[in-house]
Amino acid sequence: MATMIIEGDRTKAASGKTYEVRNPATGEVVDEVPAGGPADVDKAAQAASRAFGTWSRMPSNQRREILHKASQHMLSKVEEIATLLTKEQGKTILESRLEARRFGENIGWFADLADKIHGQYVRLPDLTTYGLVVRKPIGVCGAIVPWNFPLTLAANKVAPAIAAGNTVVLKPASTTPLATLACIEALMEGGLPEGVVNVVVGQATGEAIVGHPTIRKVALTGSTPTGKRVMAKAAETLKKVTLELGGSDPCIVLDDADLEGAARAISVGRFFNCGQQCLSTKRLYVQEGAYDGLMEKLIARAAKLKPGNGLDKDSRMGPMHTETQRAEVEAQVKDATDRGAKVLFGGARPEGSDYEKGWFIEPTILTDVPDDARMWREEVFGPALPVRRVKDLDEALRLANDSPFGLGSSIWTSSMAAAHRAVLELEAGYTWVNALVVAHDELPFGGTKQSGFGKEHGVEAFMQYTEEKSVVYGGL
Ligand code: NAD
Repeated sequence: MATMIIEGDRTKAASGKTYEVRNPATGEVVDEVPAGGPADVDKAAQAASRAFGTWSRMPSNQRREILHKASQHMLSKVEEIATLLTKEQGKTILESRLEARRFGENIGWFADLADKIHGQYVRLPDLTTYGLVVRKPIGVCGAIVPWNFPLTLAANKVAPAIAAGNTVVLKPASTTPLATLACIEALMEGGLPEGVVNVVVGQATGEAIVGHPTIRKVALTGSTPTGKRVMAKAAETLKKVTLELGGSDPCIVLDDADLEGAARAISVGRFFNCGQQCLSTKRLYVQEGAYDGLMEKLIARAAKLKPGNGLDKDSRMGPMHTETQRAEVEAQVKDATDRGAKVLFGGARPEGSDYEKGWFIEPTILTDVPDDARMWREEVFGPALPVRRVKDLDEALRLANDSPFGLGSSIWTSSMAAAHRAVLELEAGYTWVNALVVAHDELPFGGTKQSGFGKEHGVEAFMQYTEEKSVVYGGL
């Protein structure tokens, strides 16, 4: 049975309760884990608070070296961690390897910033005094993670937090705790001191983290309704919050676009991770002249995505993560077809004995989806893409911005003027111009509107795990 990680303890839940983690491709039990609750979060927060005393005061170059060594050790275990991730999450082993590697690389990327914290000297009017602005770590930080990218999204929070000298209480999604526990265990084997990252497991631990008085900041990646609840609860203890929430990214393809490049980016953007991505092409607006050519290329790409058990090397798309999640996407597709949308590709479950026990679904492309369909208004968190023809960029931009979300967005065009206008006008935290939807470590990532606020990735994320303090030196 897997256990939580609190300081040096590998511990069961205080309540003694457990639950099973199941494989979305087969329904088999992968492991049994503790169903932690508020008492476990309290223990983890106290442990993190004790560790903060030494971790935050350690010379920053020493912190950097510890993190590099720990990440290298974790990277030596990518294969076993990836296998565990595929078993608990469902994604293909290729996707899991990429993700496990990203975890270790992210720790290394932020480790390099550990000894590059800058402040300011400020000249004051009275020359017998001067001011400084210093940056300090915040303290114990909470990290709450969803199930779609358990490792990447944990690293996005843990890596900048600990590089800046904070300590962490980390909560993976209830259905995907195993690979995360293995990653943190590997970091500790590689030299990360006890208590710097503590992992609690179980549904009830999320709210307990947000309410805990010792925890000073919470970073959540999750749905928009969860983000609203977390923000309200965090107000009780005035915690800082970073909210990376739902998205419904538009993609615009104009007549003058490179259709091969666009089809590749849209296919990866919509179908990678079985469409369970926050940053993903979820609404496609295509100018009339590009429509036929693009659909032909997109359908050809979707046809190559063989669904299957993620551990099978021939699978190109794993199952959806849960039965509920699949039912939700199927209901959104049905709503669209009931209103008159046409299925260009997929639209059903794959058939055959290999698919009977898992939450498999076909990659799906729908066209002529009416404007009042749920797919345009809601987040579609699975491999189904609504497509709409548009007459020009004006219409495309109007429709693209007609959404409560504002996470990512893309445009494909060879016109610099059209691209530049889209960059200025698309209401989103990211715009890709003729580029694959990939969130780069170097660029700050985060949403606007109901996709949340605060940044992950980049120097910006690192800074958000520090606080500024003003200092006056007098009597000179
Ligand atoms: P979810 O909101 O149900 O859960 C996310 C995490 O929050 C889980 O660990 C869950 O246990 C915890 N949680 C739930 N209620 C809580 C509460 N009241 N207090 C504290 N913690 C609570 O999301 P999900 O279904 O696991 O993930 C899918 C969602 O995440 C989608 O909406 C997706 O767009 C979003 N997402 C966003 C990003 C981003 O960076 N913006 C990235 C990936 C996923």
